[in-house]
Amino acid sequence: MYDCIIIGSGPGGLSAALNLKTYRKDFIWFGSKDLSDKVMKAEKIANYPGLPEMSGTKFLERLQAHMENAGLEITEKTVTNVVYSGGRFMVLADNEFYEAKTVILAIGVVAAKLMEGEERLLGKGVSYCATCDGMLYAGKRIAVVCNAPKFEHEVEYLADLASEVLYYPTFESRVERENVTISRDVPTKIQGEKRVTSVTLQSKTTVPVDGVFCLRNAIVPTKLIPGIRVEDAHVVVDRQMATNLPGCFAAGDCTGRPYQFAKAVGEGNVAAHGVISFLAT
Ligand SMILES: Cc1cc2nc3c(=O)[nH]c(=O)nc-3n(C[C@H](O)[C@H](O)[C@H](O)COP(=O)(O)OP(=O)(O)OC[C@H]3O[C@@H](n4cnc5c(N)ncnc54)[C@H](O)[C@@H]3O)c2cc1C
Repeated sequence: MYDCIIIGSGPGGLSAALNLKTYRKDFIWFGSKDLSDKVMKAEKIANYPGLPEMSGTKFLERLQAHMENAGLEITEKTVTNVVYSGGRFMVLADNEFYEAKTVILAIGVVAAKLMEGEERLLGKGVSYCATCDGMLYAGKRIAVVCNAPKFEHEVEYLADLASEVLYYPTFESRVERENVTISRDVPTKIQGEKRVTSVTLQSKTTVPVDGVFCLRNAIVPTKLIPGIRVEDAHVVVDRQMATNLPGCFAAGDCTGRPYQFAKAVGEGNVAAHGVISFLAT
């Protein structure tokens, strides 16, 4: 069992990882090898002390270099579920379970608005994990909503299984498959009583489907970890970055505004120290 599992590889997650490493804690860190799309997107960072006028790309290079120098490794998996039970956390990442005494959520914020019906039909045809649930849709017709190119291998995997994939990426897709139809339309509503039956698009067209996969950069905290307290879609934390679940800490954009690098880095540091104190008690 790990001392800690860090979920999220932006500046908040990196700051937490650097501190846990310094204190020689046994942890695993889930996220993306590219760290965070948001860092790359910043044109010029004007408000980070000591790095005036640095571009997001340059800042990302610095973060990656720091990570490598510190000997940190990211496990490139998406966490889709965290269960808190008996003082332990069971973390599901790409269909494998990992156990830890503590967790740090540094998952950023979900920019996309949830589709109407998404929450109600989660687990009833709506899924956030292709590897976990793909097999359930073998030979079926599915819709896939995707906001990051890094998930396209999951779309390919779904295309191997499903008879037809209606694909709605928010970027230029590289997927070229006979049974995949790429559309620039935007699904806004998922229908179905007991299970998903169709999706309605912004263009007002309704298409029948058996399932809907939502492959996004971040998952709403309450979907990721049931029982966590949120306010206005942000994780509620105290001064130690502790959440309402003992041993679960949070840092960065997911805890609220302002959405800034300096805040994410500072909170990642505090969360790691919260974990260290928690493990010592
Ligand atoms: C265009 C743009 C410009 C910006 N410019 C500035 C600026 O100039 N100055 C400034 O201070 N801030 C700026 N920001 C804000 C800044 O990018 C964010 O505040 C910062 O990146 C937040 O860091 P974070 O660690 O909380 O989350 P993120 O940077 O969002 O990182 C979260 C990471 O965790 C991963 N992740 C999420 N969920 C999971 C999961 N379930 N499993 C595995 N991995 C997961 C995500 O894929 C992502 O890689 C800008 C943002 C944007 C979009």
